[in-house]
Amino acid sequence: MIALSGIKKSFGKNEVLSGIDLKVNRGEVVAILGPSGSGKTTLLRCINYLEKPDSGVISIGDFKLNCRQHGKKDVHALRQKSAMVFQQYNLFRHKTALENVMEGLVVVRKVSKAEARERSIALLEKVGLGAKLNAYPSELSGGQQQRVGIARALALNPEVILFDEPTSALDPELVGEVLSVIRQIAEEGITMIIVTHEMGFAQEVANHVVFMDGGVIVEEGEPKQLFRYPKEERTQQFLKRIT
Ligand code: ADP
Repeated sequence: MIALSGIKKSFGKNEVLSGIDLKVNRGEVVAILGPSGSGKTTLLRCINYLEKPDSGVISIGDFKLNCRQHGKKDVHALRQKSAMVFQQYNLFRHKTALENVMEGLVVVRKVSKAEARERSIALLEKVGLGAKLNAYPSELSGGQQQRVGIARALALNPEVILFDEPTSALDPELVGEVLSVIRQIAEEGITMIIVTHEMGFAQEVANHVVFMDGGVIVEEGEPKQLFRYPKEERTQQFLKRIT
């Protein structure tokens, strides 16, 4: 359902992505692993054009965008296909949990306020925040804020949800509640790409694991295979270091 082909991105002279090819099937959960600085976040940001790739082709469903030649409308169309869950939650500080979830529906999807409100309440209930609809981000724990972030992404009903290290800013005791919400969504068959350092979680929830290093995909495969029998030396060393 998603196909990335030849994605390249440099910041100045620093080539961060050196030609990434990746396919993701509908309903699949893909975990992207790799050392810090290997280009994981940049890749995720390229998929919804928070970063513009220098070259390559991004296909989502039957929509295709060539990064070298496209109009503004194509970027808008591409962005509608995915929703991002950020490391630092990126909620509007002056809006309540409910207003944060409604915002994208009303502003981007042009849904009526009444309908947006109803859908947002249902989603906040789903992530366990039915009692916090009117709380501001400053009144919520990190785990609760991230669950608002997840409800906000779900509200857009995207083809794919992109998670950028969704638990790495959290205190250890709050990681579990966020992972369990992500696990629950995964079971519903929503396509997801997750950059994560949570190896246990990746092993348990992902259908497919991608190991990146130095701006390339070094190795990819089924979690069992990749974690137990990594083929490439760089993968072996990385897994040894972190487990
Ligand atoms: P990872 O997610 O694997 O840790 P990133 O994609 O965040 O890696 O970063 C890869 C490299 O790109 C790093 O060297 C980082 O400093 C650089 N980089 C990322 N974003 C920018 C940016 N906006 N401007 C300049 N360099 C960047």
